[in-house]
Amino acid sequence: MKLLTHTAFGLFLGTLFYYFLDLDFGFVLLSGFAAFLPDIDWRMQYSWGFGNVHRKLLHNVWFLCVLAVVTYVLFWSLILVLGVIIGFISHLLADSFTVTGVYWLYPIGKESEKYHLKGSFSMSETKATKIEKYLQIIFFTLSGFLFIVKHITLENIFSIEGVITIAILLAVGFYLYKTLGKSIKHIIRKIGL
Ligand SMILES: [Zn+2]
Repeated sequence: MKLLTHTAFGLFLGTLFYYFLDLDFGFVLLSGFAAFLPDIDWRMQYSWGFGNVHRKLLHNVWFLCVLAVVTYVLFWSLILVLGVIIGFISHLLADSFTVTGVYWLYPIGKESEKYHLKGSFSMSETKATKIEKYLQIIFFTLSGFLFIVKHITLENIFSIEGVITIAILLAVGFYLYKTLGKSIKHIIRKIGL
């Protein structure tokens, strides 16, 4: 799965919590960031000569534990730790649907493939690339929409005006988060992931 799809999904989940539980926006950012982190092991394998580490070294619950502790030490907030857990788990879950899968407890069970979860989603297919594009658009749009709706009050959403307002807010939400997505894409390119 593409790094931007992971990040968009992490941001979306973070925004859901931000919207429904009235959390700080930092929660959203950390959730998106945690969803971004595991694929750094791709870079470690293909550019930094760490050997066969992709989908292993940073794609497991032990690295999540390290991240949780670091987040807690930095921010002294269990809520923000939850944001990191949600973003990170979303990445591992999404990757578990792909043919390569994820060794959740790596290196435990590596030989027996006991904790190796995998699915049938193949990233090499053009269909998969298309699906990912749609997913990115949906996650960015809904995240931006929820973010805006949280800050305004909608009168009657079942009237014509209400429907038009929702449509406009969806479009604005899309552009809002798409801009964020563009900067993330820029960062992804910059560090070569
Ligand atoms: Zn991954």
